[in-house]
Amino acid sequence: MNNIDAWYLDGFSPSKNPDLWSLKLFKSIYKSCHEDTTFSTYTSSGLVKNNLNESGFSHDRTEGFSDKRHMLKGNVVKRQKKNASNTKVAVIGSGIAGCILSYTLAKKGIEVDLYEKSDNICSGASSHELLVTYPRLSAHDTAFGAFTLQSYIFAINFYKSLKTKAWKKTGVIILNHDAASEKRQSSLLKKRSDGEIYRFIRSDEASEISGLDIKLNGLLYEDAGYILPKEICKFLLKSPKINLFTSSQIKNITRNREMINLRIEKKEFEYKNVCVCAGSDTSKILELDGISIKRGQVTHIESLDRVSKIKLPICAKGYISPQINNIHLVGSSYSDSEGTDLSEKEHIYNLNNLKLIIDQEMNVISGKAGHRSVSKDHMPIVGKKNGLYVNTCHGSRASVTTPISAEIIASMIAGEAPPLMKRELESLSPERFS
Ligand SMILES: Cc1cc2nc3c(=O)[nH]c(=O)nc-3n(C[C@H](O)[C@H](O)[C@H](O)COP(=O)(O)OP(=O)(O)OC[C@H]3O[C@@H](n4cnc5c(N)ncnc54)[C@H](O)[C@@H]3O)c2cc1C
Repeated sequence: MNNIDAWYLDGFSPSKNPDLWSLKLFKSIYKSCHEDTTFSTYTSSGLVKNNLNESGFSHDRTEGFSDKRHMLKGNVVKRQKKNASNTKVAVIGSGIAGCILSYTLAKKGIEVDLYEKSDNICSGASSHELLVTYPRLSAHDTAFGAFTLQSYIFAINFYKSLKTKAWKKTGVIILNHDAASEKRQSSLLKKRSDGEIYRFIRSDEASEISGLDIKLNGLLYEDAGYILPKEICKFLLKSPKINLFTSSQIKNITRNREMINLRIEKKEFEYKNVCVCAGSDTSKILELDGISIKRGQVTHIESLDRVSKIKLPICAKGYISPQINNIHLVGSSYSDSEGTDLSEKEHIYNLNNLKLIIDQEMNVISGKAGHRSVSKDHMPIVGKKNGLYVNTCHGSRASVTTPISAEIIASMIAGEAPPLMKRELESLSPERFS
């Protein structure tokens, strides 16, 4: 990797902390630099200047700041050009995972061929009218806890940066509806009391914010909301660097030394980098351990007066969305059944869960069933295996986890620093179940 743009060297006093100013360390810093990398440091000690000279940096002594008379700043003397993979990348699957990845690659200047087996984008699990965007956080310092928090912060900033109406930052209320949610919410509140990510709200405030008569207390995630997946994906694919091929089912993937061949009908296409974002179809084209498929159904209810004014998604055991196209989404069942026909049993399950939020009769208009890909440990599968990139298993939280996952894959391809630490990257790796 030689894509670090600037280093600030702040290793305390060189005489007290020589290990942080050693020649060995400067040589590894040098390896991370490209031709335009700069550095600065508050120290101008002789040892530091010598090690900078010997490892390949030029330096100038300039006026210091605060009580320091001098500081050093400078550049690398000679270095190769910034690493950038200019070769086209193939992305398989144009659901939310594939579209956000294509956009992220294109933003880094990389051209993308995006293959979709259906005749339209977002035809798999991402075909819902909306996806509620809020995290299932943990108060524990585990890879899961860190990933869920960081992916959420990354996602809300990502959607905000798009400046599109397909992102609705309405806030999301999570009601405290049983002993388990009570325990989770109180440990989250103990862990983080600054109110920046979530804050406690009483039922009367929840009623005022939501436009419904809410009987339970809960947490409000003010920066959360929901996305309109199809609209957002259409928006993301506008880049001239993205070539979308619909009705193009990848039948087979083979490796030939450094190159990967994709077969569509009788034609073969060759790429250096390929990323599989095929959702619940991933295991049909790739051998991957630790995946299961879970059916889910959302129920569409009529937007009667009693619910039409809901301003934000409200979640308890299930959830209800604000009005969209004269309906509200009530979700979602979770089962091992197959097929995507609507099930009466799953409508009843969703409506029973809705009673925790609003206990009134509703008119079912329709619904939509789909399949989530879910990993054994409920973390997404994101990374590289056998020369192929994989970005799948976004379970029930794809709108939260796909933006950071796209950045992970795109930074690996572009040779840039990843957006997460090693522990979290390992917990997402496609190798972890092998
Ligand atoms: C009922 C239900 C409710 C949900 N609610 C929410 C929610 O509120 N919030 C949230 O964040 N998430 C929610 N989810 C989860 C979310 O919908 C999924 O995790 C997400 O859509 C998966 O996106 P994806 O891009 O990985 O897969 P998909 O959207 O399934 O996309 C995969 C694409 O790959 C294509 N494809 C497959 N094989 C090939 C091939 N061989 N060649 C070419 N193309 C191929 C498919 O046609 C498809 O378009 C819900 C899921 C369900 C089922």
